[in-house]
Amino acid sequence: MDAVQVISDYVRFPSVSTDPAFRGGMTDAKNFAARLLHHAGLAVEEVGTDLHDIVIGRRDGPDSWPHIVLYGHYDVQPADPLDLWTSPPFSPTVRDKRLFARGAADNKGPHSVAILALASLLARQPDLPLRITAIIEGEEEIGSPSFPKFLQQRKEELSKADFVLLSDTGSPSSEQIVVTTGLRGIVGIEVRLTGPKTDLHSGLHGGAVVNPIYALAQLCASLHNPDGSVNIPGFYDGVATPTQWEINELTKFPLTEPSYREFLGVDALYSQPHWTPIEATRHAPTLEFNGIGGGYQGEGGKTVIPSTAFVKITCRLVPGQDARDIINKLSSALKSRTPRGVHLELIERQGNNAYRVCPPNKPDTPRDQNPVLARAFHAASEAIADAFGNPPLFLSEGGSVPIIGDFKTVAGLDSLMIGLFTPDSNLHAPNENLELSIIERGISAYQTLLKKIASQPRS
Ligand SMILES: [Zn+2]
Repeated sequence: MDAVQVISDYVRFPSVSTDPAFRGGMTDAKNFAARLLHHAGLAVEEVGTDLHDIVIGRRDGPDSWPHIVLYGHYDVQPADPLDLWTSPPFSPTVRDKRLFARGAADNKGPHSVAILALASLLARQPDLPLRITAIIEGEEEIGSPSFPKFLQQRKEELSKADFVLLSDTGSPSSEQIVVTTGLRGIVGIEVRLTGPKTDLHSGLHGGAVVNPIYALAQLCASLHNPDGSVNIPGFYDGVATPTQWEINELTKFPLTEPSYREFLGVDALYSQPHWTPIEATRHAPTLEFNGIGGGYQGEGGKTVIPSTAFVKITCRLVPGQDARDIINKLSSALKSRTPRGVHLELIERQGNNAYRVCPPNKPDTPRDQNPVLARAFHAASEAIADAFGNPPLFLSEGGSVPIIGDFKTVAGLDSLMIGLFTPDSNLHAPNENLELSIIERGISAYQTLLKKIASQPRS
């Protein structure tokens, strides 16, 4: 089967999980995922959820066979703004040696790579001693709300597996693949301030009322110190600093501050104590403002004191921080700093803790690390070096993939995460794409990896 053709057929279905208008696309993509698993030789089951079904593909075998869980998601982000796409988002197009379409990189392309590799391996070696549970969900882009319940239901079965294998993280280039060994956690809060019961004439009332935008700006400004650190009491309590091997590994990462500035189009990077900007994106806890609003937003001017103002905040968390604890500390800081004259309302967004997995043979590798996972780390290193020309870097990443932590907390499973998209894959943005060479090399790497994992029985 031609891999680019398969992925092209898959991304044609507009499976936007957040928008009910795309229900048909969700069903079509789910059915495609099921066919893909069936074609690979897996027994397919569809699991209903409150929203979008989960597709499972199974290959059973004796207990002595290594058992891996393959994860992917068939849903995608909305394609808007459509006019910024060079070719339409759901009409896959190959140009500049890349496949352009929504979902090409996140995540239909990468999980198809894994499944297609498995399919061709099993076609050649039908008796391959490897157990597989492939799980393709449809709610990742909306925070996987049904996933924890699904994991609880399947806990007994899944906790007997060895580890989770997935590609839903990034690498700096097709020459340098990253195996992700950590993900930041995340919590969110929306702050709404209400002052007067309606918008007011700023001439009639200006000078007498607390302006909610002013109060909000003060609140926002209070959340960082002048040195760039987060100003919430206890925010940094227990924060784990990166180990020496992680710092060494990051020095091999092909990115300098000037090239990063250029990539971002900024003339300076943010600075804070203890971390360089490049370290900070992977190892520092942060507090960011994601959206802000209030008052007149239209053309021209309007002399008004608005009744309300809002800001949306998220914090990225690192190992040692607890999501619930950080939400509590952030809420109390906001409450204690809200001036009189405005009313504060907080809407909390559920969060998750950071995740970290340590490769084998490091000073901090857990003694009880699953031996199949340990071997798989070595095998991944060799398979990636063979297929891509360079061994992978083992790095923490700044993003959050909540299901990775869920696999660990619910089923005790660690994850081996192989990054197959690159910075110019334009994830969640117009002109999303995946390099054709990554598809080809990825399939080769996955084949070698799966074969190596299968080559030794569980001890
Ligand atoms: Zn995504």
